[in-house]
Amino acid sequence: MNDIRYIGYDPLVTFLRENGEKPFRAKQIWTWLWKRGAGSFDEMTDLSVALRTKLQENFTFHRAEIAEEARSSDKTTKFLLKFHDGKMVEGVLIPSKERVTACLSTQVGCPLHCAFCATGTMGFIRNLHYSEVIDEYVLLNNRAQEIYNQHITNIVFMGMGEPLLNFDNMMTAISILTGKDYFALSPTRITLSTAGIIKGIKALADRGFRCGLAISLHSADPNVRNQIMPVTEGNPLHDLQAALAYYHQKTDERITIEYLLLSKVNDSEKAAEQLARFCRPFPVKINIIEYNSTPDSLFHKSDPTRRNAFIAVLERCNMVVNIRQSKGQDIAAACGQLMRKTVKSLEI
Ligand code: SAH
Repeated sequence: MNDIRYIGYDPLVTFLRENGEKPFRAKQIWTWLWKRGAGSFDEMTDLSVALRTKLQENFTFHRAEIAEEARSSDKTTKFLLKFHDGKMVEGVLIPSKERVTACLSTQVGCPLHCAFCATGTMGFIRNLHYSEVIDEYVLLNNRAQEIYNQHITNIVFMGMGEPLLNFDNMMTAISILTGKDYFALSPTRITLSTAGIIKGIKALADRGFRCGLAISLHSADPNVRNQIMPVTEGNPLHDLQAALAYYHQKTDERITIEYLLLSKVNDSEKAAEQLARFCRPFPVKINIIEYNSTPDSLFHKSDPTRRNAFIAVLERCNMVVNIRQSKGQDIAAACGQLMRKTVKSLEI
């Protein structure tokens, strides 16, 4: 049986007609599915019981569910979300003064094998369907209101997976999240984070979405980057730089550069100079990320002296630099730690 959310609007109208129902019912059903985030047909209380039964007989409803949840001492909350086939991803809610940021996943596992990332070690399992991405948002938004008494204000696709390798589903999910007739979120509050998939960056630029783009650069030295991020091989730094310049030219957006400091790997002053040079063709904001160690880690975080020297070089080059504080350390909710453990890890 088909999940009702996998069929399009027009086939739904056809189904209603064939079953002697008025076509405008499709709009009501659609609103329940994509705006109100209904979890079952029973919730669609403005439909007749007969119609709800008919829908139930003809369609399934594969809602994701929260399998586990853990709160950190800094109020960050990590969720394990389970889909209809039992596959799981993680999502995180990060509250700050006026915001609740949701960090959402885009794939189960990840095919990119970045050397420092825990998700990479599980390999790629499957893409999330756009309805599953919406489920992540709806489930976490409901919990955000219950826990923090506030809606999700910002979304970052920085959980498990590579969003630009799940391009079509991500584009549909973003259209639903930002669409006037759907969730109506501002695209400027949504950020896609990519390891640097050139084809996807160009395609995104051509779409003209005004959502934020973050690049997990982590090195502007081709040899070093190739070693820590094998994605560099098919997406060389020089071409990546050109794709980012194209993105800026098309969208006029400033690009966020994520830079994870790994001791003695990418944290020298020379590496900072290379980073500044890489960023010259477009405006950027650089987020320095502290490394979160993962089991059997090959890496160490930079010590404060090296880190400060690295940042000083960037500041001398007039770059905007933020140091991103790691949240949810005690529940392994930080970047690259997602899914590193099983459900057991959520017992804090
Ligand atoms: N594939 C996308 C989004 C998922 S990774 C991307 O690469 O951007 C989200 C962020 O976490 C990336 O910047 C990634 O490089 C970073 N990250 C991965 N492992 C990490 C770790 N152990 N410590 C800190 N950040 C990590």
